[in-house]
Amino acid sequence: MDEADGDHFDVIVIGGGPGGYAAALYGASAGLRIALVERDKVGGTCLHRGCIPAKELLESASVYRTVRHAAEFGVHVGEPSIDWSATIDRKQRVVDQMFTGLGSLLKGRKVEVVPGSGVLEADGRVTVETDAGSRTLAGDAVILATGSVPRVIPGFEPDARLVFSSDELLDLRELPGSAAVIGGGAIGCEFASTLADMGASVTILEGLPKILPGCDEEIAKVVTTSFKKRGLTIRTGVRVTGHQPQDGGGTAVQIEGSDPLFVDMVVVSVGRRPVTDGVLGDGCKVAVSPRGFFEVDAHGRTGVPGVWAVGDCIDTPQLAHVAFMEGMNAIRDILGEDPPPIDAGRVPWAIYCQPEVAFAGYTEAAAKEAGFDVVTAKHRFIGNGRAVIIGSTDGMVKVIAERRADGTAGRVLGVHLAGPWVTEQLGQGYLAVNWEATVDEIAALIQPHPTMSELFGETVLSLTGRSLH
Ligand code: FAD
Repeated sequence: MDEADGDHFDVIVIGGGPGGYAAALYGASAGLRIALVERDKVGGTCLHRGCIPAKELLESASVYRTVRHAAEFGVHVGEPSIDWSATIDRKQRVVDQMFTGLGSLLKGRKVEVVPGSGVLEADGRVTVETDAGSRTLAGDAVILATGSVPRVIPGFEPDARLVFSSDELLDLRELPGSAAVIGGGAIGCEFASTLADMGASVTILEGLPKILPGCDEEIAKVVTTSFKKRGLTIRTGVRVTGHQPQDGGGTAVQIEGSDPLFVDMVVVSVGRRPVTDGVLGDGCKVAVSPRGFFEVDAHGRTGVPGVWAVGDCIDTPQLAHVAFMEGMNAIRDILGEDPPPIDAGRVPWAIYCQPEVAFAGYTEAAAKEAGFDVVTAKHRFIGNGRAVIIGSTDGMVKVIAERRADGTAGRVLGVHLAGPWVTEQLGQGYLAVNWEATVDEIAALIQPHPTMSELFGETVLSLTGRSLH
């Protein structure tokens, strides 16, 4: 279709991932007329190549682990085995179900999904290139939500045979006997955990001195110890330089100053690059930073009036739930509601490896670096009834509070968890940090028993100077 001057919308959103579709759904629920331009599938990385498929595979790994230990509970099921193609098929069914649901939601809210690649022109209109031609949309506001793609390192270009980024790995058709995971961040640890649970011999190769950079040191240690106990190898402070495919299959990963590592496959998980190339037409004045992100202020406004940017294409934590909130905030800003800016240091983080990790707020080191006098408390899941019942006790809760002038613990600055189901337990820690609750305020509230979440209450209670278990 060729249209010199297409339909007019209140808001045009370019990119249908969590940032873009959240803006579209939320904006439509506020009565705005929205066009959502998407060149692939609505749902974006999160639904098709990220959060949802990765967590589904981790859940399959968790079911396998549970069944392997069923005899401990007196449940005899024989020797379990993995039908990986059935696992991958289930993963796809979950994704497809969520995709259909999202499509219905968008349709129900009368969001017009425009298929094709969107380009923001200098005059503020959006050109959408499709196989069938181009269409021009006009809007009062534009939200850029073009997301990110996996970073590639030279010498390790993904080929879906020996080298995999997250995009290819989530469609893996055959389980490897061994794997090297380059990058021990959140996504690398999730993949390493899945593959190890599924029986592969896994080596994590991390350039920094520890895995899970950004996590509290003691929490990262819990994961390191637990991974090692499960047979994963962790090599930190290493630099990979390339790999040499082997005649008999597999490849040899070259590591500076060390013998090569022979593995069946390599997973590259070294972060994600923002997608900003090709999104701006000639003369469009939206600024792009040297690292490739759209530049925005605390409200997500670009320097061009009427244009916002949200999600992984801006330099904020690359998380789906952060993208959701940024998308909603952009709409609220468009509506003149003056939403409070997101404090990147206090957003919730959830990592679904085994053991899981979840946190919000300052790590102990970051709090001290920021000048706080801190007092901390830790409680381990080994002392928690529910964790013992389910037979998963690796992990701890750590709470960091500000030390008051009288030496007692005051405001909660950070809550850090590693252990069973902690991604489901962070809620109250997140609220505590963001409402700037004090340990006394939290300790006065009752936690249900027996739950794993009561370990947070116990940890806070001990910061009052008294404790129970
Ligand atoms: P994206 O989801 O990348 O979506 C951008 C969309 O824009 C894409 O659909 C793309 O096709 C479209 N697009 C790009 N350019 C154009 C254009 N010019 N025209 C039209 N369309 C365009 N986050 C969490 O919070 N929790 C997790 O557990 C988690 N797990 C993850 C696991 C993996 C393996 C990966 C890779 C990521 C994970 N993430 C997780 C991160 C999360 O997926 C991203 O933060 C989130 O998807 C970002 O949303 P977004 O809308 O900014 O971008």
